[in-house]
Amino acid sequence: MVGELTALLSPGRVVTAGPELRIALSDGTANQGIEGSADLLALPETTEQVAAVLGWCYSHDVPVITRGGGTGLAAGAVPHGGVVLSTERLGAVRSIEPGLWRMEAEAGVRTATVHRVALENGLFFPPDPGASEQSTLGGNIATNAGGPHTFKYGVTRAWVTGLEAVIAPGEIMRLGGTVRKDVSGLDLRDLLIGSEGTLGIVTAAWLKLVPAPESRAAVVGFFETASAGCEAIAAVMGSGIRATTLEFLDRGALEASLGSFPFERPERPGFAVISEADGHPDEVSRVAGELEEALSPGSSDRPLRLTGQAETRELWSWRDRVSPAVAARRGGKISEDVVVPLERFREAVEGTLAIGERVGLEACSWGHAGDGNLHSTFLVDLADPEQMERGRAAAEQLFSMAIELGGSISGEHGIGTLKIDRVTDALDANAVRLQAEVKRAFDPKLLLNPGKKVPLPG
Ligand SMILES: Cc1cc2nc3c(=O)[nH]c(=O)nc-3n(C[C@H](O)[C@H](O)[C@H](O)COP(=O)(O)OP(=O)(O)OC[C@H]3O[C@@H](n4cnc5c(N)ncnc54)[C@H](O)[C@@H]3O)c2cc1C
Repeated sequence: MVGELTALLSPGRVVTAGPELRIALSDGTANQGIEGSADLLALPETTEQVAAVLGWCYSHDVPVITRGGGTGLAAGAVPHGGVVLSTERLGAVRSIEPGLWRMEAEAGVRTATVHRVALENGLFFPPDPGASEQSTLGGNIATNAGGPHTFKYGVTRAWVTGLEAVIAPGEIMRLGGTVRKDVSGLDLRDLLIGSEGTLGIVTAAWLKLVPAPESRAAVVGFFETASAGCEAIAAVMGSGIRATTLEFLDRGALEASLGSFPFERPERPGFAVISEADGHPDEVSRVAGELEEALSPGSSDRPLRLTGQAETRELWSWRDRVSPAVAARRGGKISEDVVVPLERFREAVEGTLAIGERVGLEACSWGHAGDGNLHSTFLVDLADPEQMERGRAAAEQLFSMAIELGGSISGEHGIGTLKIDRVTDALDANAVRLQAEVKRAFDPKLLLNPGKKVPLPG
């Protein structure tokens, strides 16, 4: 296996031992102690080499687990035997056309690089999942990633006009491209987006971009209670204010992260709402004023207004560190990403705390309030198996609560292996059946990221 795969790739691109392989055995769930095993790590440099590796694996019945930046939070990139195919060397931005607002980039390009290249050309790629210096475009497409700014701009799917992918048994397929609209045929591109490496391997994508907003301002409201904060969120939406983001942090998330808050700290922090406006400076100033007005009633401190790119960048860089700051409280956390209808949002925030109390673990939540998407979190000591057990029980209760509230078990991170047992609870029985059939149509030998995302009968 090693010899034959080495012959298909460049020298040194098949790794069978050492730290590089070790890293490829876990992902963003490593802080829950999750690690897998693999026969080897393959590092193809071209789409043709990806096709050759998949072709070899398919003809020898070897599973293929595609890996991007390894920041996923559903154990989707964790292998359980077989070949880990890393897209790390597929790192080219193939084209950027500022006048046409578009870019073609390979799957291994870091999300932050996509943002940077777009910005250098006066353009903006809105999806902004939290670990963007490490995550890849291919991983973002495979998880249909979101982030704070998707409240106004939509998730990754909205920005992909075409895909180049390798499908079983080792063929290169192109779907869509530079055209901005295309309804010829069933939308296989949309099926691949969010499929977590279970239907094919994304090797490149054509992206639609928008002109970068000239100006930004953030307004942060602080509240003593979750219910006052949730009322303010409803007030922003009810007033029809076109905010770019509508994020929240509850008391526990604030306690963990306010220590490094780069601005004046609130006196009685129980709940925070982070909203933002972008666009022409006049428009930004008007919307920021409206946000301040909507976030003032019931607030414990005067809303904080941050203007300009530098200040808002500092705010978001702090916000990106909330997740590790929460994990640092006890050394580990079990953090989920349930989604509920907006009118049930307060119940989900309070329900998270109630579940924590029931299982005897400290709990908190933060996330994308405007999308009804919560990172509900239970703090655990990773070395304590009994606490881990309670943490997992809390996650199960959380999924049930989200479904009862009319929501779903994952708004962002995907299913991976962690939530696969709950998919049948979350989806219509016909949808589950059709998904299994789609999986078999793309991957008849069930070798692409097996055991993930799509529950199969038996
Ligand atoms: C601190 C932190 C904050 C985060 N914040 C957010 C957030 O705000 N929003 C959000 O949506 N997510 C968030 N995430 C989760 C994660 O960053 C995203 O899911 C991201 O899109 C994963 O990209 P990756 O390149 O790291 O993929 P990986 O972790 O390597 O893989 C994820 C899944 O995609 C598959 N995959 C990867 N590349 C390909 C490819 N080229 N073709 C086919 N399948 C592929 C893998 O098999 C796996 O199933 C966060 C993670 C961390 C650690």
